[in-house]
Amino acid sequence: MSARLLVASSVVTVLGFSAVCGSIMLDSRKSSEELARQTMENLAATIDSDISRNVEIYDLTLRGVVNNLALPEVASVGKTIQHLILFDHAITAKHFGAIQVFDAEGNLTLDAATLTPMPINRTDEEFFSAHRDDPDVGLFISRPMLHQGAYSIVLSRRVTGPDGRFLGVVAGSIRFNYFHDLFGRLRLGKDDVIAVIARDGTLIMRTPFDLDLIGKNMAHIASVHQVLSQQRGWFSGNGIRDRIPRMYVWSDGSRPLVVLVGRPWAEILSVWRKEAIRIGSILLALTVFVAVVTMVFIREIARRARAERRLEELATTDALTGLTNRRKFDAAFDTEWRRALRQGTPVAMMMIDADHFKSYNDTFGHQAGDQMLVGIAVCIADSVHRAGESVARYGGEEFAALLPGLTAAAALALAETIRLKVEAWSEGHGGVTISVGVASITPTLALEPAALLEAADKALYAAKRNGRNQSVVAASRNDLSLVA
Ligand code: GH3
Ligand code: MG
Ligand code: MG
Repeated sequence: MSARLLVASSVVTVLGFSAVCGSIMLDSRKSSEELARQTMENLAATIDSDISRNVEIYDLTLRGVVNNLALPEVASVGKTIQHLILFDHAITAKHFGAIQVFDAEGNLTLDAATLTPMPINRTDEEFFSAHRDDPDVGLFISRPMLHQGAYSIVLSRRVTGPDGRFLGVVAGSIRFNYFHDLFGRLRLGKDDVIAVIARDGTLIMRTPFDLDLIGKNMAHIASVHQVLSQQRGWFSGNGIRDRIPRMYVWSDGSRPLVVLVGRPWAEILSVWRKEAIRIGSILLALTVFVAVVTMVFIREIARRARAERRLEELATTDALTGLTNRRKFDAAFDTEWRRALRQGTPVAMMMIDADHFKSYNDTFGHQAGDQMLVGIAVCIADSVHRAGESVARYGGEEFAALLPGLTAAAALALAETIRLKVEAWSEGHGGVTISVGVASITPTLALEPAALLEAADKALYAAKRNGRNQSVVAASRNDLSLVA
C-alpha cells in the first residue's frame, strides 16, 4: 500500500514537473517564433521601403521625361538643349541606368548618356510591346534582363500623344548591383534568404544570388500565391533549392515588388533548442534521481514489511510446535464465530489434553516430553487443515482446534480420528494418549463465544474424569450432559 502510494506520488511529481517544464518550453518556443517573425517582418519592411522609394523616385523621373516630351517647345529646340531639358533632373545614381526614349517603332531616339544614341531597336522587348499594346499599363517593371551591358530590371512608361496615339516608350533601369549593395548592408544569417517578387510572381532578385531562378515565374507555387494575395503574413516551407525548412515572412505586399524574408527554423529555434536540451537533461536527471530514490524506499518498505511479517509470525506462532498460539487462535475464533452468526452455521471446538503428561515427563525427561508434544501437534494438524479451521497450542500440553461448520457428531468423529492417530503414533514413543472435549454450537446473538470454549472444556474435564484416552462431546449448549 505505502509502496504503491510512494510510486504514485513519485510519478505524479515527475509528471507534474514535466508538465510545468513542457508548458514553459512551449511558451518559450512560441516567443522565439514570435520574435523571429517580428524581426523578419521589420527586415522585410525595411528592404521593401528602400526598394519602393527608389522605384518611386525613378518613376517620378520617367514621368518627368514623358511630360516634357509632350511639350511642343521641346521638339523645336536643338538637340543639346532638348537633352538638357529632358534629362536635367534625371537621376544619375550609380545603380540607375541612363534613361532612354524609344519612338513608336522601337528605335532609340534619345539617350540620357549621350547626345548621339546608338542605332538600337527594342520592338521585341516585353517592356516595349506591353506599352504599345495597352495604354493603361502605367509603370512597367520588366523581368530581369541584360540591359545596357548589365543585369537590370527595366522600368518604363508609355509616351502617349494628345490624341491617345502610341508615340513610344521612356525606359530606365535599376541594376542588380543596387540589390547586391542593399542586401550586403544587412547582417544576414548563413542560410537566410531574401526574395524580391514582382506582382505577377516573377522572381526579380534573390540572395543568395541564383541566376537560374531569377526571372522565373513563381506564381504557380502555393506559398508565393499566398504572398501575392495577402497584405502581410508568414508561412513555413522548404527552400526551393536547398530544401532547408524555413520561416518566410513578408510585409506590405501591396507595392509593385514584394519582399520575402526566409530564415531557417534551425536558426530561429537554436537558442530555444539549447534551452530545451538543458531543461530536458535536468528533468531526465531528476526523473532518474526520483526513480532511484523511489526504488530504494520501495526496497526498504518491502524489507520492513518482511520483517514485520516475520515478527508477526513469531508473535503468533508457538515456537515448539509451529502451531498458532492462543492469541492468534482467539482472534480467528472471534472471526469464525461472527461469520457463523451471520450465516447461521455451527462452529465446533475441540480441547485436547495429553494424559498424565507430568508422569511422562518424569519418566522420559522434559525433552522427550517436548518431542511428544510436537508429535501430538503433527497428528492434530494432519487432520485439521480445511479453510477456516485452525489449531493452536492452548497451554502447556493442551491444544485447541477450531472447526467452523462442523456439527457435534462430525467434530466427535474427527476427535476420535485424532485420538487414535496419537495413540498409534505414540506407541513406539512411550505410549501417550489424549483426552478430547468436543462441543458444537450454532451462534446466536444471545450467546457469548466463551460458551463454546466453556462447553468444550467441560467435555474435556468429563473425558478426564471418565478415565482419559477418550473423546467426549457436550450434548447441547444448554444441557451439557455428556456423551462418552
Ligand atoms: P492429566 O491427565 O490430568 O492431564 O495429567 P497431567 O499430568 O497431564 O496434568 P497436569 O496439569 O498435572 O500436568 C501437566 C504437565 O505437563 C506439567 C508439565 O510437566 C507438563 N508440561 C507442560 N508444558 C510442557 C512443555 O512445554 N514441555 C514438557 N515436556 N512438558 C510440559
Ligand atoms: Mg494433561
Ligand atoms: Mg493439562
